[in-house]
Amino acid sequence: MGLLGSLWKPTLFRSKEVIGIADDALQFALQASEDSHPNEYMGQLRGQDARSLGLDRDGTVITDVLLAPGTKTNPTSAEFKPTYMPNDLNSVGSVHSHPNGVLRPSDADLATFTKGQVHIIVGAPYRRSDWRAFDREGEPIDLDVLSVDVPDDQFFDFTQADIDREMR
Ligand SMILES: [Zn+2]
Repeated sequence: MGLLGSLWKPTLFRSKEVIGIADDALQFALQASEDSHPNEYMGQLRGQDARSLGLDRDGTVITDVLLAPGTKTNPTSAEFKPTYMPNDLNSVGSVHSHPNGVLRPSDADLATFTKGQVHIIVGAPYRRSDWRAFDREGEPIDLDVLSVDVPDDQFFDFTQADIDREMR
């Protein structure tokens, strides 16, 4: 029984490779970043099991973008503060925008990328191609954009997520 208990850990989920991002989630991040302009947008990425989304692949698909709670942004100083991130088992990484359009992590970004598996930087002018994904070392990675059916109610801000969790 003790062995079963130790096997049943969320780390099993977390260790799964992120294989892509839902098209809807990417569009949401681009729109949220544009809406925040000229301020920086910061959010948390959450994933769901690929097979639960009907894909015949192992891995995790980014399906949710949540505004990081408590973040304060301005155009020049945009620092990601992971301590504000909710401790979410389904969290796979972060997304934030660079209003200056530079799709490269800053030194401050690199210092925080160690938390989470995938980090997306979105840049002005926030077109479909104006984003890039990085691993925890800040190296660019390929992230497939996947057309999956994610229910609309997957997109909520942190407060709404809290409410939903309470009501389940
Ligand atoms: Zn940055």
